[in-house]
Amino acid sequence: MTDITEPPFNQAEIERDRTAVADFLLRLRRKRITDPRVLAAFEAVPRRLFVPHSARDNAYLDRALPIECGQSISAPELVAMMTAALDVPPGAQVLEIGTGSGYQAAVLAGLAQHVYTIDRFRTLVELAELRFRTLKLHNITTLVGDGTLGWPANAMFDRIVVTAATEAVPEALFRQLRPKGILIAPVGPVEGVQKLMRYLRDEKGIHESVLADVRFVPLIPGKAERL
Ligand code: SAH
Repeated sequence: MTDITEPPFNQAEIERDRTAVADFLLRLRRKRITDPRVLAAFEAVPRRLFVPHSARDNAYLDRALPIECGQSISAPELVAMMTAALDVPPGAQVLEIGTGSGYQAAVLAGLAQHVYTIDRFRTLVELAELRFRTLKLHNITTLVGDGTLGWPANAMFDRIVVTAATEAVPEALFRQLRPKGILIAPVGPVEGVQKLMRYLRDEKGIHESVLADVRFVPLIPGKAERL
């Protein structure tokens, strides 16, 4: 995977990508994702750099794909739905739990002031870092660690997104969410279907709403011992 720093972008590929991205943005509009900032953030990130090699020419098909360490990159329309629901204002400090390929973080970097992203696999974090460097995304900071603890040294956060399934959102994450903050997480049985939950913090407490049924790989406490 070292050639992610040398995207084999010839003219034909660039044209194909342009068509695929235009089609993707149209699909988002049909799903009522119309915020120009969100659409521009997606337009700015070439998803082909984040998917497995064999899937590069089909990067925008609406499906999750396997990545290293037995993990997966979420389907593009799900990433878009989560990004839109996160409603990231320009000055926001965002925390992502589950860097994976880095795609969600790269999109968020186009909306937030700074993105902090944690994964328990060093391999994934290193590959994601390489992609961020290739795309000159300088407002993302990564950590190899246990995201269930949040990132106390950089708290508080305006937005938190958990991209791995959990039976219950770790308390540490709510503690690191600013007033008026939004947290999104897939909550439910880790081997089955989860509810994508949106939590909004205000003066009275936490308000929750259900966004969709989803399937994510599990949130596993602790740093990975291998990989
Ligand atoms: N957001 C990613 C997809 C994430 S897949 C993307 O855009 O590609 C879920 C990720 O959560 C996996 O990479 C997995 O390693 C990670 N993960 C699971 N438990 C974790 C934990 N406790 N702390 C940090 N990351 C975790």
